[in-house]
Amino acid sequence: MHEVELDKTHKLRAKVLIGTCGLLGMLGLLLGVINILFIGLSPVLAGLQLGYALVSFWLMQRALNDNHKPWEAHLYVYGLTAIVMFAVYVARLESFMFCWALILPILYLLMLGKQTATLPASFLFIFVLIDISIKSDVMPWPMILNFSCSYALIWLIAYVYENNRERSENELQTLALLDPLTQHYNRLALSKRFQSLSQTSTLPMCILLLDLDYFKVINDTYGHEAGDIVLKACAKQISSIAGYSDTFRVGGEEFCVLVQAEHANQAVELAESIRKLISDTEFLFENQNLAVTVSVGVATFEAKMTLSNLLAKADKQLYLAKDLGRNKVMFDGGYLK
Ligand code: GH3
Ligand code: MG
Ligand code: MG
Repeated sequence: MHEVELDKTHKLRAKVLIGTCGLLGMLGLLLGVINILFIGLSPVLAGLQLGYALVSFWLMQRALNDNHKPWEAHLYVYGLTAIVMFAVYVARLESFMFCWALILPILYLLMLGKQTATLPASFLFIFVLIDISIKSDVMPWPMILNFSCSYALIWLIAYVYENNRERSENELQTLALLDPLTQHYNRLALSKRFQSLSQTSTLPMCILLLDLDYFKVINDTYGHEAGDIVLKACAKQISSIAGYSDTFRVGGEEFCVLVQAEHANQAVELAESIRKLISDTEFLFENQNLAVTVSVGVATFEAKMTLSNLLAKADKQLYLAKDLGRNKVMFDGGYLK
């Protein structure tokens, strides 16, 4: 199945990192050279600027190849904070060096996220306020007030942006993983769940592939609306036994259940309970009782199997169940009813 990347945050943070590294790398190079050749402000600061430029280009290269680690990005931002603080500390107040601190809350929020950004943003804010208070001989208040207001506003705007972006991404992720009709998980969610379980779980895994029997007849006899009601009710019944997070609608009238169990027998018993519940239920549509049954194929996961392999294995059993007359559970050649 085609893999869809739902984590847009990682991509955004990588893009911001690439842009920041590129810009600051060039700026660091320029300032470092100007500092050495013309101003001679501080050799240590010039060394830091040139060193930072080198690190920036190196990290940009890694981010472009998607090889960078989250801690590298964090270290980079904290390194930049240290340079800004050092520059603010050594510069005279009249140079307005502390204005550089204003860009950092945006970077913190875009590259570290809402929670992590609070600490460095607060720390830098307090540092600059103390620096202004110490260096200013007369009336530091207008400068403190102007800096505080602009810093707080930039921080607030960046926070609101990041908060909305994060919320929209979460909502889109939820929508992308849900089937709109039954409000149960869809095939994409199954593939994500399978991926994480096959990598992390220590328990053996089984899959149940369930297909409603002669479902087309329900649509043809009672209409599509009746079919939809049955599909929603069946999804509820399956998840009432298998659990909401393990139930997936993978096709029109096909569902799938992931089971983690010590023995395949437990998965077969679960499949049998679902089959029985659905066949014992009378589905009501416009005062008429509709009889519905389901056929189930059960397959066990083996090492290195892909989801497609596992589904194909379960599908074989499902076909056998259909061939043997439907309303049956099949598992590796034997059936339970
Ligand atoms: P079998 O026992 O062999 O599975 O027979 P079947 O009739 O269930 O299988 P078939 O593949 O012939 O028909 C499946 C039907 O499911 C056809 C299609 O119109 C219907 N269907 C698929 N998605 C939906 C849906 O979202 N709502 C409704 N109402 N019907 C759907
Ligand atoms: Mg089908
Ligand atoms: Mg069917």
